[in-house]
Amino acid sequence: MAKKITVIGSINMDLVIKASRMPKPGESFFAQNFGMIPGGKGANQAVAVAKLGEEVKMVGKVGRDVFGDKLLKNLRELGVNTDYVSQDSSASTGVAFIIVTEEGENSILVANGANGNLFPEDIEEFESIIKNSDLLLMQLEIPLRTVSCAVELANKHKVPVILDAGPPPKFFPDFFTRVDILSPNELEAEELTGIKIKDLESAKEAAQKLLNTGIKRVVLKLGAKGALLATRNGVKHIKGIKVRAVDTTAAGDAFTAALAVSYAKGENIEGAAVFANYVGALTVTKFGAQPSIPGIDEVESFIEKIESSTLSEEGESPH
Ligand code: ADP
Repeated sequence: MAKKITVIGSINMDLVIKASRMPKPGESFFAQNFGMIPGGKGANQAVAVAKLGEEVKMVGKVGRDVFGDKLLKNLRELGVNTDYVSQDSSASTGVAFIIVTEEGENSILVANGANGNLFPEDIEEFESIIKNSDLLLMQLEIPLRTVSCAVELANKHKVPVILDAGPPPKFFPDFFTRVDILSPNELEAEELTGIKIKDLESAKEAAQKLLNTGIKRVVLKLGAKGALLATRNGVKHIKGIKVRAVDTTAAGDAFTAALAVSYAKGENIEGAAVFANYVGALTVTKFGAQPSIPGIDEVESFIEKIESSTLSEEGESPH
C-alpha cells in the first residue's frame, strides 16, 4: 500500500532563462531561451513523492491568478492531492526567476507571494491530515513560524518529519532539533554553521556542528560528491554517482523527497540516503524542475544499471 506523505510548502511558477553564463551586475546580453516551468520547493517535492509512487497531500497557498490556476492544474495532473491548497486573493502566486548556465549551474531569485501568507492558523486547520500521515515533509520557503507549528503538530502525533533546510534561515530555528532528519545542501550547511565547505573534511565538520546543536540526524547534500549522513552513531559518505549534469535545478528537491519516500517505507536512514542519491543524480541529467524529476520505474532501472556496472568494474579490478 502506498505511504501517505504530507508536504507543507511553497508553490511557484519558475521563469527559467538559459544563458551562456551568469550576468554581471548592470550587464545586459541575450539569453538562449526562456520557459515557464512549475516549481517551488514544496511543489517540486510533492511532485517527486507522487512520481516515486506514494500518496501525497499538498498544503500550501497560491494567488487567485493565472499562475495559481495553472499550478493547481499541474499538481493535480501529476498526481498530487491539492484539496488543501487555497487560493489567496490578497497576494500573487509565488514566482522564481531562475538563470541556468551551459555548465548546469543555477541562480534563483524568489518572489514569495502567497507562500508568505501560509500561516500557523492554516496548518492548525489540517491537524488531522498531519495526524493521518506516515511522514511530514517540509522546506523553508513558507514562514518559519508555520513550519514550527507543523513540526509541533507532527511531534504531538508522533509523525516523523523530514525538513529540507532551504532556503537557509537568517537565524537558527529551535524547531530544527525536533525534526527527525534535517537535509541541507552545502550552501545551507555553510550558512547554518559558518563553516566553509570545500571538501569532505569540512563537510564532516559542518555536519558534526549541526549535530552538536541538538539536531538528531543530518543528511547533507554534496552535489556531484553525493551526500553525507551524520548521526549520533557516526558519519558516512555516500559517494556521488557519475552522470552528465545538464541542469541541477530540483536535484536537491528530488533528493529530499526520495529520502522521505524511502524513509516512510521503512528503510533506515542510510538506505534512504543511498536511494535519494540515485534520484538526485538522475535528476541532474535532465533540464527543468519538475519535468526533470524521474518516476519510480526510471529510478529502478537506473539503480540496476549503475549497480551492475559497479559490479563488473569490481570484477575487473585485480585483488
Ligand atoms: P541542491 O540542488 O539543493 O543544491 P545538490 O546540488 O547537493 O542540492 O544536489 C542534491 C543531490 O543530487 C546530491 O546530494 C546528489 O545526490 C545529486 N547530485 C547533484 N548534482 C550531481 C552531479 N553533478 N552528479 C551526481 N549527482 C548529483
